[in-house]
Amino acid sequence: MKKIPAIRSGVQAIAPYQPGKPIEEVKRELGLSRVIKLASNENPLGPSPAAVRAGSQALREAALYPDGSCYRLRKALAGRLGTDPDQILLGNGSSELLILLGRAFVSPGEEVLTSQMSFVLYQTLAQLQDASLITVPMKDFTFDLEALARAVTPKTRMILIANPNNPTGTAVDPKALENWLEAVPSDCLVVLDEAYYEYLEPKLRPASLHWAANRENVVVLRTFSKVYGLAGLRAGYGVASRRIKEALDRVRDPFNVNHIAQAAAAAALADPAHVRRTVALARSERRRLAGELRKLKFLVIPSQANFLLVSVPDRDAQSWFQALLEQGVITRPVVGPFLRITLGTRPQNEKLVRACGRIVHAAHRRPAG
Ligand SMILES: *Cc1c(COP(=O)(O)O)cnc(C)c1O
Repeated sequence: MKKIPAIRSGVQAIAPYQPGKPIEEVKRELGLSRVIKLASNENPLGPSPAAVRAGSQALREAALYPDGSCYRLRKALAGRLGTDPDQILLGNGSSELLILLGRAFVSPGEEVLTSQMSFVLYQTLAQLQDASLITVPMKDFTFDLEALARAVTPKTRMILIANPNNPTGTAVDPKALENWLEAVPSDCLVVLDEAYYEYLEPKLRPASLHWAANRENVVVLRTFSKVYGLAGLRAGYGVASRRIKEALDRVRDPFNVNHIAQAAAAAALADPAHVRRTVALARSERRRLAGELRKLKFLVIPSQANFLLVSVPDRDAQSWFQALLEQGVITRPVVGPFLRITLGTRPQNEKLVRACGRIVHAAHRRPAG
C-alpha cells in the first residue's frame, strides 16, 4: 500500500479549537434575522472610533509588509505601561504568544501545569510540544495556588494562570499570588494570562507588570481582543524579561502582527475613555444580569470579568445553548451544567433574560415524564 505523510502523534491528539458560533452562521442555519453573540467575551461597544479611523487609514498601506518590530505600537505600550520597550512581546493575539512561549521553552516530555476549568488553549500549547498538561482541581471555581505549588515536579517547565480566569471569571488574591511566586522554582516559567485584567476591581489587581519586568521567570500576557474591542484584528501583548523577548523573536513569524492591527491597537491605547466606558458597562451589567439570572434559578459564579459562568437550572448547558440559539442568542456551553455568557449591552442582556425566561416557562408547562 502506498504510504501517506504521517501526522505527528502529538498533533493527532489535539482537538481543534471550537470558536464561538459566528452570527452569520446562526442566521443562515436557523433562518433568523436578528442574532446576538454573547459567546466570545468581545466588547459589545465595538472598538474605539479612533482605532477604526487608524485601521482604515492603515489599510491603504496594505501593499507593504508590516513593521516586524512594531516600533510605534511598542513605544505606545511602553509609555502606557511604564516598561522598557525591549521587554514588550507582541503577537497575533495573545493566543499566539502562548503558543510561542511553549515553542521556545517547553521540550517534549516536560510538564505544563495549570488548573482544571481554565483556558482550552493551554492544552494545545502542551500538545504541540509533546509535553504533558497537568491540571489541578479548582477551589471555589478559583485557581488553587497551593494545589499548583504541590503539583510542581522537576519536569514542570511552565505554569499558566489565567487571572481573571476564563471560563470561571474568578480572580486570585494578589497578595497570595505574590507570596506563591516566591516559592516557584526559578527554572519554571510562570505565565500570568491577564486577558481580562482591566475588568478586575482595583484591589484585586496584582503588581504583575512589575513582577514580569523584574523576574526572569514571569511573563504577563494581555490583549487588544477584549476590553479594546479589536478581537477581529488579532493583537496581543505581553511583558517579560529581554531574554524571553529575544527567545520569542527567534520562533515567531517575522511579521506576526499585521499592519492594520498595529495601527488600530496604537490608536486604541490613546483612547482610555473608551476602555473606561467598556469597563463601567461590564460592571453594571454584571451585577444586573447576575441578579436577573438568579431570579430564574441559575447559579451564578461571582465574576471579575466581562462574562458570567452560570450553572443552568435544569437539563444541561448544551440543550440551553441550543434553546437560546433558536431565540437568536449565541452563548457558550462549557461542560456539564455550565454555560458561559458574555456581558452584552443592556438591550442585548435583556434579550438574553427574556429568552431564558421563555425557556424556563416552557419547561414548566411541559408535562412531567
Ligand atoms: C480571550 C483570551 C485570550 C486572548 O485571546 P487573543 O484574542 O488571542 O488575544 C487569552 N487568554 C484567555 C484566558 C482568554 O480568554
